[in-house]
Amino acid sequence: MKYCPKCGGVMVPVKKGDKYYLRCRRCGYEVEATEEDLREYRIVHKTSKSEKVVTTKVISQVKKEGASPEDLETAKEEYYELVLDQLGEYGD
Ligand SMILES: [Zn+2]
Repeated sequence: MKYCPKCGGVMVPVKKGDKYYLRCRRCGYEVEATEEDLREYRIVHKTSKSEKVVTTKVISQVKKEGASPEDLETAKEEYYELVLDQLGEYGD
């Protein structure tokens, strides 16, 4: 987890076009996310039990609708961002 250099708030990843940024939830400060940052946030994602359960639900729902592997990957990414949003709120 990264913290804002300006106010110490929690930084969460946001996607803009093809790029990821880390944005402060408190003051809105943004910095472009490095590969290292993205790896760090994905490790957090894998270690939580509750996330696994819901991620499985999302994927099985997509499978029913006959989605392609690319669509599955998108669903995972969207969920991952949602979880981090929630974490940021609890951490503040
Ligand atoms: Zn800040």
